[in-house]
Amino acid sequence: MAMNVAIDGPAGAGKSTIAKAIAAKMGYVYVDTGAMYRAMALYFLREGIAPTDEAKISSVVDNILVSIKYEDGAQHVILNGEDVTGMIRTEEVGNMASSTSVYAPVRTKLVSLQQELAKTTDVIMDGRDIGTVVLPNADVKIFLTASVECRAKRRFDELVAKGETPDFDKIAKDIEERDYRDSHREISPLKQADDAILVDSSEMNIDQVVETIISYINK
Ligand code: C5P
Repeated sequence: MAMNVAIDGPAGAGKSTIAKAIAAKMGYVYVDTGAMYRAMALYFLREGIAPTDEAKISSVVDNILVSIKYEDGAQHVILNGEDVTGMIRTEEVGNMASSTSVYAPVRTKLVSLQQELAKTTDVIMDGRDIGTVVLPNADVKIFLTASVECRAKRRFDELVAKGETPDFDKIAKDIEERDYRDSHREISPLKQADDAILVDSSEMNIDQVVETIISYINK
């Protein structure tokens, strides 16, 4: 049986950084499910489809093939044959992903891809609905969160490090809006699974969070 670890939580809680570090230490494959929603969002943006146009989005889902591959341990997302890994990390794509991940056809397609991956491989998978919907029988479930201020500050620092001049209040507002949308949508809302362990990283550094979660996995 493959070992499955689920990490859910709101945007900017550090899920991907933490999950990547744990995957490297434990020899698991890291699966970033947000990247899959982002790849789909990139397709909708390129097609000029409005995030509210559910009918159009539902009708084009069958034209989209998202897959992932690993190169030197890093996940690459492939959209209809094109490696889009470097194009999906913008705020525009993130907001589009949040808006379009509410639609059932989008979720159904990606959830089955995620479940297939976890069947045969030891994975640490991060997202919003991993412990509740994608891998309800995961061996370990973590709900990783942090305060809005703290998440906005981390995002702000990341953008500054990239040479950008971000607006802190705008980042905090985007995070709040995304949290609201992700946790109030009808299908698979962001929610702590009943059997998930809550980890609040507001006052912890990366190593502390990694060690805390590894200690739960080893238990
Ligand atoms: O985690 P990330 O910010 O890359 O995710 C982008 C968006 O994709 C999220 O805001 C969320 O709406 C959606 N998502 C989701 N379910 C997942 C992962 C991401 O709905 N498992």
